[in-house]
Parts: sequence; C-alpha cells; structure tokens
Amino acid sequence: MTTKYNNETFICPCCGKEFETKIVTMITHEGQDSDFLPHFVGENPLPFYLAQCIYCNFIGYPEDYAPENSQKTEITPSQIKKILNLPLSKKIPEIPLRFFIAGKIYEELKRNPYFTANLYLRGAWCCRIIDNRKAEIELQQLAIRFFKIALEKSTISSPDTVSVVTYLIGELYRRLEDRKSAREWFEATVETIIDPEQQWLLELTQKQAELNEYLIN
Ligand SMILES: [Zn+2]
Repeated sequence: MTTKYNNETFICPCCGKEFETKIVTMITHEGQDSDFLPHFVGENPLPFYLAQCIYCNFIGYPEDYAPENSQKTEITPSQIKKILNLPLSKKIPEIPLRFFIAGKIYEELKRNPYFTANLYLRGAWCCRIIDNRKAEIELQQLAIRFFKIALEKSTISSPDTVSVVTYLIGELYRRLEDRKSAREWFEATVETIIDPEQQWLLELTQKQAELNEYLIN
C-alpha cells in the first residue's frame, strides 16, 4: 500500500484555460494527531488534494472544476490576484499557501464555512509537517473562526460532525495555549455527544481536556 497519484486535466472555472496536474488518488497513513492530521506513510500528499491552475492560480478540489459546479465557482483572476497580494499570503510557505488561497477563494464564493475551515485546518497541518509554527498559528486561528461560523449558522447537517467540530475548536485552542477557551469547548463537546458510536470522541475529548489542565504545552 502506498500513496498513488494521477495526472488529470482540468478546465479552470476562473480563466477558462486547460491545464494538467498531479492529483492524489490513494493515501496510506498510520495513526493521526489529536487534531486528525494523518501520519502519512511516505511524503505528504495533502498538496495534491488540490488542483491549481498554472495560468491564474485558481485553486480548489477536483470537484470545484466540475462543469456542474462552475456556477458556484465564479471568481475573477483579479480577485485571485488580490488574495495573492494579502500580507498573510507573503508569510505562509508554499505548500500550506495552497490551502490558504483555496480557503480565501471559498470565502469569496461564500461556500459553506465548514469546508472553508477544513481548508485552513489542512493548511495548518501542512505547516506542522514542515515545522513552521508561526504560519501554523495563523491557519489554526482561521480554522477556529470558520468552524465557529459553521456552528453559529448551523451549516453542518450531521450531529456527529457538529460534535467533532466542537471538539476540534477546543483542541485547536489547546494547541494555541488558550486554556480557558479550550476548557469551554471541551465541556461543550461532552454535552453534544449522544450517539454511542461516538464513544471514541468522548474518550479523546476527556484525554485532551486533561492534557489542557495538567500539562505545559
Ligand atoms: Zn485559471
């Protein structure tokens, strides 16, 4: 078992040009971090979850290029340029930057904030893999912000996912050394869990809540 890639052709919904790029089709991992970063076997495949247009820098998941989604993907090359010129875009290293730009595009497109948050979380994972704590903090804060918006606006349909997101906010706060907020969100997580199938999440929450109280980060 190994990571597999495929070269695929896409038509950019932003500039209309055609390009070919490498996309990951299968990954192997053994275990994960407490914020669900998978421990990949071999190189980090995360950057290849996204396809980036070589002409205008539009970036998104392969499904964002599907013709049936193109109406939801209306963005102009000048909007992309603006994103690339944001002060934060200059500070984030190349690989996590892919997720930052994709997240900003999702913000512009007013996509479900839950998906936007997931892009920022993946960006934060990429920063951890290359050991860039400063950029990781920026992306973790963005992930928290959009997970919270998703909860406030009830954009997450599955109650199980609501529990996972509530936990993730707590765990990201713990990683940001905001113990008070972490405590509040871990407590809130416990209250959301009703499904016995989510016993694993209850145990994980209790473990991380204990780390939050007794360990120096
Ligand atoms: Zn393009």
